[in-house]
Amino acid sequence: MKRQKTFENNNPKLYLVATPIGNLEDITLRALNTLKMVDIIYCEDTRTSIKLLNHFEIKAPLHSYHLFNENEISEKIMHNIKSGMNVAIISDAGMPVISDPGWVAVRDAIEEEIEVVIVPGVSAGITALVGSGLNSYKYYFGGFLNSKKAKREKELEKLASKEETIVIYESPHRIEETLKIIDKIYGERQIVIARELTKKHEEYLRGTAKEMLEVVDTIKGEMVVMISGNDEKVDKDLSSLTIEEHYQYYLDLGLDSKEALKQVAVDKNVSKKDIYQVLFKNK
Ligand code: SAM
Repeated sequence: MKRQKTFENNNPKLYLVATPIGNLEDITLRALNTLKMVDIIYCEDTRTSIKLLNHFEIKAPLHSYHLFNENEISEKIMHNIKSGMNVAIISDAGMPVISDPGWVAVRDAIEEEIEVVIVPGVSAGITALVGSGLNSYKYYFGGFLNSKKAKREKELEKLASKEETIVIYESPHRIEETLKIIDKIYGERQIVIARELTKKHEEYLRGTAKEMLEVVDTIKGEMVVMISGNDEKVDKDLSSLTIEEHYQYYLDLGLDSKEALKQVAVDKNVSKKDIYQVLFKNK
């Protein structure tokens, strides 16, 4: 077992720093301070990141780091840190490592007993999920699906039985094809597309895949696609549960006792007081 006490020494460290996904005001104070403090910053596309760094007057030298050269660059990063440098990794947008490079360096740093410091911030998938209106107590993050249509279809078939909300990243070039597959497999299931988040043309489309296909020509830019979970099983199960089991089900999902009680009352279409009575007063 290894234990990391992140801030108990002044050794040079590896920083994974989130950057905005559109609106520059989403950079955090801690991200700015960290990027100003480190000796070197690794990023995906130096042309993209230099704009961010110039905007915030950050002077650290920029080096590029891609998925295809992760191993080689990670070795360099470990060498930098061991020779006394604090190193940050950023991606073009959002949290590094999430559908972006950085994981290999995190793994290697842990192996080398170098502290890994996460400077969190916005991530497109989480931002989209929060605004989607779909059940967010549990979700499945699928990242990018396969770029080959047949493989993507297989992946979406596999996901169809999931009870959790499904969150995937999709490119505007593939969205029409993906919506057709979703329509075929998921039919009337509610989906939400969140596009251009935090930017001027931010938009949420909420409906069925068929409805989205009618306006697909207007669905452009960066987007997150979310598919509501398969709740057939949940609905059936919940109606056959006792109130105690029903309440426990929501506690297990992570709701606090007040929220769980409220949700049981909503599902059973009775007052919260009635549920409270059964759960606590009859004991
Ligand atoms: N690491 C990033 C994060 O934490 O959000 C994700 C990087 S991934 C390479 C890029 C994908 O994220 C895009 O293709 C899109 O699906 C999604 N994305 C990024 N910015 C977005 C935005 N402003 N609005 C909607 N989706 C966005």
